[in-house]
Amino acid sequence: NERLSTVDPEVQQAINNELVRQQSTLEMIASENFAPSAVMEAQGSVLTNKYAEGYPGKRYYGGCEHVDVIEQLAIDRVKALFGAEFANVQPHSGAQANAAAMFALLNPGDTIMGLNLAHGGHLTHGMKINFSGKLYNVVPYHVRESDLRIDMAEVEALALEHRPKLIVAGWSAYSRQLDFAEFRRIADLVDAYLMVDMAHFAGLVAAGLHPNPVPYADVVTTTTHKTLGGPRGGVILAKEKYARKINSAVFPGQQGGPLEHVIAAKAVAFKLAGTPEFKERQERVLQGSKLLAERLLRDDVAAAGISVVNGGTDVHLVLVDLRHSELDGQQAEDALHRIGITVNRNAVPFDPRPPMVSSGLRIGTPALATRGFGAVEFAEVADIIATALIAAVTGTTNNDAGDGTSGGARLNDDAAVVLRARVT
Ligand code: PLP
Repeated sequence: NERLSTVDPEVQQAINNELVRQQSTLEMIASENFAPSAVMEAQGSVLTNKYAEGYPGKRYYGGCEHVDVIEQLAIDRVKALFGAEFANVQPHSGAQANAAAMFALLNPGDTIMGLNLAHGGHLTHGMKINFSGKLYNVVPYHVRESDLRIDMAEVEALALEHRPKLIVAGWSAYSRQLDFAEFRRIADLVDAYLMVDMAHFAGLVAAGLHPNPVPYADVVTTTTHKTLGGPRGGVILAKEKYARKINSAVFPGQQGGPLEHVIAAKAVAFKLAGTPEFKERQERVLQGSKLLAERLLRDDVAAAGISVVNGGTDVHLVLVDLRHSELDGQQAEDALHRIGITVNRNAVPFDPRPPMVSSGLRIGTPALATRGFGAVEFAEVADIIATALIAAVTGTTNNDAGDGTSGGARLNDDAAVVLRARVT
């Protein structure tokens, strides 16, 4: 019963350092959030000791009476939150949820369609060396070059040509809402399953601020740790008729014992996601991303060759387009990192630079909204980002400051002072 700091001071020290990092920087990675203490308390509980292969009431281990209560609460709450007929709360992650959902509905060699990775799709939607690309015949669809929105005419044409067994609608880097009714219509044309991966925008759906895919899709998968703000994990929602297939695809198909401590934390997160406070927070998430897009569309930012992919956002993130800028994604990510803002570089569609460098940034607002940011704070951080990016462009083209630093670096330092004043 000794404390972590005594048993393993090295791990304790690294955790302490991570806490300081999280508290002293501005977290703007679109897929991250801060889980509430109640969620972490459930996850750090004695439930971690329990094996519970099977499902509530049908376990392969004794002593499951209490974890049954917990898992059933998680199932009932997530079904109510999204209006789903069926839920499996056991997937260890979003990728596991997608693997199990596909495993339930498809056979190896079947054709699937998903948004191309370079155009905003996820690895599990058919990337070559992912299980999805190895097991299935993948026909990717794309965004249109003219407006960088998903080309539903292409989706329809490809579906009619290739007759996929499943179409995945969902994304990791896209800033507009999907047309679920249109995806359903196309899936029905070719008798395909429609699977929506709402991992990124599930929190917005729970708050009623984004269309709900559940009525349209055969299966909906999600993570629980992004906009939803819960523990790291996955969930599968589906029509009742797929219940048996999905349950057996998760266990024993993909996984062994469920992580009941994480499932307890999911149950807590689903309860919190139904509250007015959660809705108010998601409203600030959207307010923040819209302010960010607005500030990054300013004339002085455009003059530096920087713009916003598809001209704005309807969700919790903004994709910065650096294709016409001297600055590449790596340099932009580094410039923001230097002033304490954490984001990730990201390929944008039709990106001329290689993926490790890229011509984009993905900037999200969920974590800062959880930290209490509202319109005033988001406007300020948006202005700081705009200033820092312009300065970084100057830094890449004007390295004649004579003192080893560029004009860009000096401006970044000014922005850093403003920022440190705010976050400490
Ligand atoms: N699906 C989408 C759309 C995602 O963006 C992600 C994560 O980035 C996942 C699935 C995978 O989630 P996990 O990292 O929990 O496996």
